[in-house]
Amino acid sequence: MGKLFGTFGIRRIANEVFTPEMVNRLILSFGTFIEGDTVVVGRDPRKSSEMLYHSVIAGLMSCGCKVIEIGITATPTLQWACRQWSHWGAMVTASHNPPEWNGLKLMEKSGKGLDPEQEAVVEELYFKENFRRVAWSSIPQGTVKRPVNQDYIEAIVSKVNAEEIRSRSYRVIIDCANGSPSLITPLLLSELGCRVVSLNAHPDGRFPGRNPEPTPQNLTDLTTLMKHGDFDVGFAQDGDGDRLIIVRDGGIFVSGDYSVSLVADTLAKRMGPGPIVTTVATTHLLKEIAHKTGRRFITTAVGDRLVAKALQETDGIFGCEENGGMIFPDFVWGRDGAIAAAWILDIMATSGKSLKEILAELPSYHQVKKKVSVEPGKKEDIIRKIDSVTASYPDRITLDGFKVVFDDDSWILVRPSGTEPLFRVFSESRDLAHAEKLVEEYLHIINSV
Ligand code: MG
Repeated sequence: MGKLFGTFGIRRIANEVFTPEMVNRLILSFGTFIEGDTVVVGRDPRKSSEMLYHSVIAGLMSCGCKVIEIGITATPTLQWACRQWSHWGAMVTASHNPPEWNGLKLMEKSGKGLDPEQEAVVEELYFKENFRRVAWSSIPQGTVKRPVNQDYIEAIVSKVNAEEIRSRSYRVIIDCANGSPSLITPLLLSELGCRVVSLNAHPDGRFPGRNPEPTPQNLTDLTTLMKHGDFDVGFAQDGDGDRLIIVRDGGIFVSGDYSVSLVADTLAKRMGPGPIVTTVATTHLLKEIAHKTGRRFITTAVGDRLVAKALQETDGIFGCEENGGMIFPDFVWGRDGAIAAAWILDIMATSGKSLKEILAELPSYHQVKKKVSVEPGKKEDIIRKIDSVTASYPDRITLDGFKVVFDDDSWILVRPSGTEPLFRVFSESRDLAHAEKLVEEYLHIINSV
């Protein structure tokens, strides 16, 4: 059996591999899995999304599922709607991938992405093609069209200290990548009293402004404007709005490890008990923040759904990833870029400090992150070698690759890619030279196999 699903949903080249037929078969599998229950359907503004959206709706109706259409929206907005109404969800999007891609993300009724075990059942149905079909007389008539973007914006405003934020009249830039956030985040920032300059903020599935992945090299327009203009903060999102990147005054890119720590530090001081949850690849600054406030620090394998699941199971207060993804468990069971932006403004407004000043108050940890390609045939040998080299360390974590945590809380993580012949080697230490040395040491081990 082929493997269809990746870390969250399925992504392929649109209308080449990811055709209406393939999407139809996938959604018939999902509609069969949920036994004809109601589904909230949304999409991003990609050129192929409208076509695939109709394929999704037709398949669901064929299974007897009632469909609530929320149209063009962000992935977290759809997840929020699923949770509000307690319905399953299907989102046509390829997140941050280039414009020729598309994909499908499936949600359970809490709004969290399907578990890998649930996906395995959907996948089995896909290959067996034993689909639920209702009789012609039972096909649901009409879909319910229920746009939610404005309700979602208002829900975010109600979650943060809006009056305090409004009183500051922040000057903010938001780069929406011409994706789904175009319809949401600039409006949210206006509602919060910000003076907003929006970049790439008309939905356009060709992504003419920039590549929809919010990496430093794709955000040069934003960093240049932040450097030369008079702005308090710059935000950038990916194509479907689940990720948020922060650029501070002076045009300085804030790393994901630091943007999530900034929010975790504030939430830990404000909220009741409950752990902070993240992946093995994220900074131990979060561990320091958790322990300082008497809470647990829980790590999972890489993948935001796994973080969301651990948050559900442990009553966590905050979940995050090293790429800047943030999960607020009282709002959406998945990463949410728009509410993350509102929280950053809340933290600035309630402290009365600039982002630069707030970041300077956090202890400094240094991360070094490298990727190394290897010969495909050597991947297993390298995994065995890393396993044996790290086996004797008492604090070794093997949830996802091999992570060794040393006595001074510095750490090294070696993770093989699931799809490509490459390894990711991450380290962290209070001392940059030490973090660099750890990565060099393990790159040497990988290259010597
Ligand atoms: Mg995304």
